[in-house]
This record gives sequence, structure tokens and C-alpha cells, in this order.
Amino acid sequence: MILGAAASAVALGRSAVVRGGFVERQLAMPGTGFGRATEKPLRVRPPDPVDTWTTATYGTSAQGVPLERWDLRPEAPTRRVVVICGVHGDERAGLELAAGCSQVLCPDDLHLTILPLANPDGWEAGSRHNARGVDINRNFAWGWQPTLHSGGRPESEPETAALVALLKWTNPDLVIWVHQPLGYVAALDGCPPGYADLWSEVSGVPVRTGLRQVGGGESWTAFDLKRPSMLIEVGGTRDLPVGVDQHVRALERLLPFVVPVG
Ligand SMILES: [Zn+2]
Repeated sequence: MILGAAASAVALGRSAVVRGGFVERQLAMPGTGFGRATEKPLRVRPPDPVDTWTTATYGTSAQGVPLERWDLRPEAPTRRVVVICGVHGDERAGLELAAGCSQVLCPDDLHLTILPLANPDGWEAGSRHNARGVDINRNFAWGWQPTLHSGGRPESEPETAALVALLKWTNPDLVIWVHQPLGYVAALDGCPPGYADLWSEVSGVPVRTGLRQVGGGESWTAFDLKRPSMLIEVGGTRDLPVGVDQHVRALERLLPFVVPVG
């Protein structure tokens, strides 16, 4: 399956927005037949220009697909922000937003890490879940409960375990989880005041308070790992997101204000 639906092609095609051209350029070109069964699936491509970013992997999916990370790392970083996209494979804004985030103006003391597609098997299948039918965002340890899609135990899935290992190792000063399509921004308890308001002001989505979710990645980073955490819900629909550009601008506006938490 190839990005699922024509609507997805429209959603990504709209993104001439995808600056730098590292989501397949032909996606933005009409008449290329993207979305036909014969078309190759979307591939994650490294940011452009590649000499300012490094690309690496931080694990593999259940089906053995490399999990990619992009890093913009200054010589002497004093702050670190991690942006996580594509946890749910049917939420199509993730790659577009990751592409946009790789083009933001970044403070020269800030290490920015982008995970463009945390669930590549789900993306390929057009599914919320990973290839084993598990919702990665119910598979984290915080408040984990056995449900139909939460996995056999916390961190049972390779995608979850890889995120946990990476985040424990990187100890970010801010973790930003990107989802769709509810259209809000949440700063979980423990996040410095003002982050969500600034994001809301620039992106136009309302602030949601008090977010916590059993098995959720954002709840694990906020309450177990104890790192400042935000969850962004892009609005629109899963196939036709709205306001992706505004969320990219919100990230750019927020980065200078991110406080090191040690
Ligand atoms: Zn989601």
C-alpha cells in the first residue's frame, strides 16, 4: 500500500511546503500518479542540505525497517530538543512537519533531533499500529495497562524500546510529540510555563491542559523520564492535515526560549 489514499497524495502534494525537497519531490508535482498501486512508497530522505545535518538510525521496526533520526548539532550545544513524528502510521502530517522542522532557524547552541517516522511499518500499511498490531503510544511504561492494542508488556515493541533508549540517552530539555488530527497543543505538567501559549499563539490551535495518557509516550517522557514534554495535535483530518506550516513556525519561535533543565 502506497500512502493509502489519493487524499494522502493531495495532502503531501499540497506541500510545495516541503522545503528543501527531501520528501520525494514528485509528491508535489501533479500528474505523477502518486498513490497508484505501482508507485513506490514514500521514503524518508535526509534533510537538505545534507552537510549541515547528520542522519543515523536508532533502531529497527518490527519488520526490520531502520528507524531514522536527523540531527543538527552545533559544536558545543547547551540545549537539546527532540521532535518525534509518525508514531501513528495513519497520521500523514508527520513527515511533512518533520521536513519543515529541518528547515527552521535554529539557535546555534541548540542540538535539534528530528525523528521523522517513528512507525515506518504503520506508515507503509496506512495503519495507526505497528506491524504487530500494537499502538506504540499505548506501549510505554507510564501507567501501562493491558488492552487490545497496548502490547504484551510495556516497551514490548521494538519501535517503543528504541524510542526509550534514545530518549534516556539524549536526556532532552524538551520533547515534542506530533500527532493528528485533534488540533491542540498540550504542555504536560512539568513543562516550563509559556511554551504551550507561545505555540498556540503562532500555530492557532488552542491549549489543552492536564494531558496524561496511560501507556503514552508523552506521559512517559514527562512523568517517568521527567523531561519537559509537549504534545502537538495537528488539526484537519489524518489524510488532510491543516496548519502544518504554522506548527513549523511555532517550533522556530519556541526554540530560542527553551530552557536547559540539566
Ligand atoms: Zn497519533
